[in-house]
Amino acid sequence: MVVSYKCPQCGAPMMFDPESGKLSCDHCGCVTTVEELEQNPKEDVAFTSAPGSSLSSTKDSFKVYRCKNCGAEMLTDENTTATVCVFCGTPGLMEDRLSGENRPTLVIPFKLTRQQAIESFREWSKGVFLTPRNFLAASTMEKLTGVYVPFWLHDYDTHIRLDAHCTRTRHRRAGDTEYIYTDHYNVLRDMDVAYSRIPTDASEKMEDSTMELLEPYDYSELVRFEMPYLSGFLSERYTYTADEMEGRARNRARQFAETTARGSISGYESTNIVNQQISFRKLNEEYVLLPVWMLNYRFQGEDHLLAINGQTGKRVGTLPVDKGRARSIFWGIGAAVFVGASLLMALL
Ligand SMILES: [Zn+2]
Ligand SMILES: [Zn+2]
Repeated sequence: MVVSYKCPQCGAPMMFDPESGKLSCDHCGCVTTVEELEQNPKEDVAFTSAPGSSLSSTKDSFKVYRCKNCGAEMLTDENTTATVCVFCGTPGLMEDRLSGENRPTLVIPFKLTRQQAIESFREWSKGVFLTPRNFLAASTMEKLTGVYVPFWLHDYDTHIRLDAHCTRTRHRRAGDTEYIYTDHYNVLRDMDVAYSRIPTDASEKMEDSTMELLEPYDYSELVRFEMPYLSGFLSERYTYTADEMEGRARNRARQFAETTARGSISGYESTNIVNQQISFRKLNEEYVLLPVWMLNYRFQGEDHLLAINGQTGKRVGTLPVDKGRARSIFWGIGAAVFVGASLLMALL
């Protein structure tokens, strides 16, 4: 079933508003909290399956829905959990893909509004030489989408034992002779370090490197997951299970433990790790959704994925550069320098 939350006053769809942290109706301005909506859900089927519309006959990976508000048809893939009708903006939440083992336990709700995200792009492009002229155009910014990305948060206990050989030198002068002493130390570190909430990106579609650069998220703002937070945004369910992501999470735990243990050895002139043992104990993992504003911008045959952390505002990606504009300006500078040089010659 595809549901959407309706305004208790006028029946228009209710959308999650990052600024107030509540749901509001664009139509009449009515505001309700997530809890109020959950307690008294005014759910209604937002989209209906369009008849005979499973596109692929072998695998039901795409599905066509018809918006009940405007009648437009839309295509969703099997992992979509929240979507918005591109024609009229009616939000639709795929309830059965958000329940049972597919139900996230926690979510960081969007804090940055769409307007703030657009403002951030404007500021970003100011600092970049020669972004394309239409970059900030309304038609580009329309493609900006708020996405809740599925993540696993892993908790680990690690035990690390390091054996290191370290040295320090001392100098002593006696008459004309200088004595150099090298002291050798066997340094041992045996530490138990607990790491909580190591994130791994659970979505096949999201580039891991982009997601890691968007970190850190402030996990103190995680709240219990409720469906209304997704209203008006896009979301997907996880494509990788927590077990599939465990290798990645362990690697990160290993890096953290190594950095901590090695960082605790200081005050020597040389440090040489002779032996290192790490063991892990998995404690817990949680399925969570984290907010990202995303813009896919295609320019001169190249795709640019630009992303903004929907909680902290951190920006990731490389803004496109208009090479044509760049070239013409360099020619301009070249000509100016040439004219300047000829003037100088004339004066001499
Ligand atoms: Zn209303
Ligand atoms: Zn519609």
